[in-house]
Amino acid sequence: MRVSLKWMLSFTALGLVLSLSLLLPVAAQDATPGGPMPTPDVLTATPIPRPLPINSLTQERTTVEFYFDTLPQGETRLIRVSGEGMAGARFRLFDELIEMFAVEGDGFYGYLSPSMEQITRAYDLDIFVWYADDTRQTINTQVDVGIGNFIRQDITLPPDKAYLIDPEIERNELARLESIFSQFTLERLWDGRGFHLPIPGGELTSPFGAFRNFNQVMQTRHTGWDIRATLGQPLLASAAGQVAYTGFMDIRGNIVIIDHGYGVYSTYCHLSQTHVTRGQSIAEGQVIGTVGNTGRTSGPHFHWEMAVNGHFVDARQFLEMWKPG
Ligand SMILES: [Zn+2]
Repeated sequence: MRVSLKWMLSFTALGLVLSLSLLLPVAAQDATPGGPMPTPDVLTATPIPRPLPINSLTQERTTVEFYFDTLPQGETRLIRVSGEGMAGARFRLFDELIEMFAVEGDGFYGYLSPSMEQITRAYDLDIFVWYADDTRQTINTQVDVGIGNFIRQDITLPPDKAYLIDPEIERNELARLESIFSQFTLERLWDGRGFHLPIPGGELTSPFGAFRNFNQVMQTRHTGWDIRATLGQPLLASAAGQVAYTGFMDIRGNIVIIDHGYGVYSTYCHLSQTHVTRGQSIAEGQVIGTVGNTGRTSGPHFHWEMAVNGHFVDARQFLEMWKPG
């Protein structure tokens, strides 16, 4: 089931999109779409142990647990609410109303995901819960958004791609992404194997959130991670899900977007070929396309993004965290 939430997405403020491999000479090779799948070390990865909550708060029938002590810009954090007979829960943060998801016998969970540009200060966190006997309860608390750890980069685009340094093109593309990410699937589509790198063992190069200066004329932000890759290398779905979009975007080039449910999306950019169609169910580790050089790139590389509740988040951090269910 899908619902459109009226999130006040902070995309307009969210700097832009970029995707460039910096300074990484990449050896071109013949593309072999549909070639052999890389060794699936993703299938044998050690499960992430469930952490203990750092803090908790109990009011009447409801207990809220916080699985974090800091909430930096661009990262994802987990909360859980529980109570005997609880039937549903959602929360409001940054003026956005976010559904919480039920894990059978284990309460309701939600992801807090400030954008990389969320102003650092305290914010109201209002949690709304309801019970099978129609009792409702609201818990009001606050969370502090802290500063993220982001680097600065200078990027030089080749002359034939310099026309893509255009704030209008970035705004239009972010608007398209906003409409995709704002679909909140009230169902967990990823499986027990969780999330993994789209290129198993791949070397992460240019980091999420970097402040970027293109050709000395435009400042913007890096909305994902770059992974060192060669042209034609197969790309694996980070986790199970459903294809929300596949097509071409000016900056991201050929792109696949996978909806993993619970407001979580992964995107795969600059592909040379895509092997999936919109609406298709995807297994974790399935080859969804091949590394390319399409869109705003300075050479073949793979740009990998994740969005949670409509905000780009640090995909590597999301992979490393324990997930309920
Ligand atoms: Zn990138």
